[in-house]
Amino acid sequence: MPKKYHISTKATPLDMEYLFKFRITRGENCINCGKCTKVCIYEAHKRERGDPRKMAAPNTAVCRNCFRCIQECPRGALEKSLNQDFLNNDGSYWKSHMLIALWKQAEDGKVPVSGAGYRGPFTGAGFDGMWTDMSEIVRPTRDGIHGREYISTAVELGRKLNHLSFDDKGRLLSKTFDTVHLPLPLVFDLPADNLKGNVLAALAKAAAEIETFLLLPADGLTPEMEPYAGNIVPLLTHQDIDRHSAFLKKARLAALEYDGELLNNISGIKDKMKEICGAPVIVRIQAGNGVEDAVSRLAQRGVEIIHIVADYRGMEADGHATSPPRVLKDIIRSVHQRLVRERIRDEVTLIFSGGIAMAEHVPKAMICGADLAAVDLPLLIAMGVRLYEEPEKFLVFPSGLEEIPVPILAQRVINLMGAWHSQLLEVMGAMGIREARRLRGETGRAIFFEEVDEDTFGKLFKNREAVNL
Ligand code: SF4
Ligand code: SF4
Repeated sequence: MPKKYHISTKATPLDMEYLFKFRITRGENCINCGKCTKVCIYEAHKRERGDPRKMAAPNTAVCRNCFRCIQECPRGALEKSLNQDFLNNDGSYWKSHMLIALWKQAEDGKVPVSGAGYRGPFTGAGFDGMWTDMSEIVRPTRDGIHGREYISTAVELGRKLNHLSFDDKGRLLSKTFDTVHLPLPLVFDLPADNLKGNVLAALAKAAAEIETFLLLPADGLTPEMEPYAGNIVPLLTHQDIDRHSAFLKKARLAALEYDGELLNNISGIKDKMKEICGAPVIVRIQAGNGVEDAVSRLAQRGVEIIHIVADYRGMEADGHATSPPRVLKDIIRSVHQRLVRERIRDEVTLIFSGGIAMAEHVPKAMICGADLAAVDLPLLIAMGVRLYEEPEKFLVFPSGLEEIPVPILAQRVINLMGAWHSQLLEVMGAMGIREARRLRGETGRAIFFEEVDEDTFGKLFKNREAVNL
């Protein structure tokens, strides 16, 4: 049995302003009886340190909205009200509750659990419109993610062979390719956003500790990043290969931005990269109209790894003339199915990013056809960044972020990934899937709302339209 992959999490709170759905306040009619300190198991109510005759202000950060203290206060002195800040932060894709969940996971590395149950809608846009098949959760032999059955979340990056060829003496004729092993189907991807030195160093340190990679523009690499060179994927254009050859020599993976010239000269560019670093090459391409054609051509021309990038809300860059932009789940399915039809899907590794916001988006992206996902904004949110979505993406960095030591920021990112790893194990365990690579393209193990809706009501409403006409 292989050694179990483990992410070491550690409580790492930050002194920052948190976001709450409800704010709990204590009115002046409080008689300091202390009953609320006994009924709140989360210790939101405490007496003042300096003067225990008085109650301290309630700690909304730990409140789980059970309303027990409000019901039991003899004076009706406690009140919960909707927090305007929570409403202001809500975007159409990045919801306030997502920020709260990500902060919590970054703080303690635990799977978020709400005692209040789930009261939201059971479907929505993007990944919220698909449900995974959890039929194995009732299997009597299932002994949990920490039990005897080993669940592997590992994936291999690189070109693979469709089949092996041998000569008449049984000697292998096929040329095999180098692959890179990742114990978690995730890489970090932060190509922009002008980040401070300690933030970049923390991301690189976290990537190294959990044995993954951080994609960074080669132009932004500083000497402080040298110790992490083995876990950094320099991102560059093919015109800049010579300029960055010193860093490329240390890289275990390298990424090139896609353009038409790269596609036409791909074999010469790959040869040049091989001379310099010998690492597998990722080609990074924006998700947009015609991305399937470009990915197909790259795959046919021998590119090992293709990274398809949607925008920060998981949408393609340019919608079709007659329809709204597609969401990441549909882009992944379309690209994956195209390569399956062309019988080349197993040879190439596909990474998808953009809108990977919550832990469950990783297995869902894989079920749609991704080999792995790249995560971006949640890594910054783990460090206390607030994301406002409308009218356009706007990041608010916590004050004093540049003063926070690298190990603290790195631990928060490691905690977040630890929580995501545990949730991936939970999903795979409940689905009865023991290897992450087997999730890829398993759409038969998921239910897609649009398809069920069409099957159930499609004909009915089409007929009604016909009658109305
Ligand atoms: S239970 Fe009510 S009255 Fe008693 S200390 Fe708490 S808030 Fe004050
Ligand atoms: S609502 Fe529940 S969790 Fe929140 S402070 Fe009151 S007792 Fe504690």
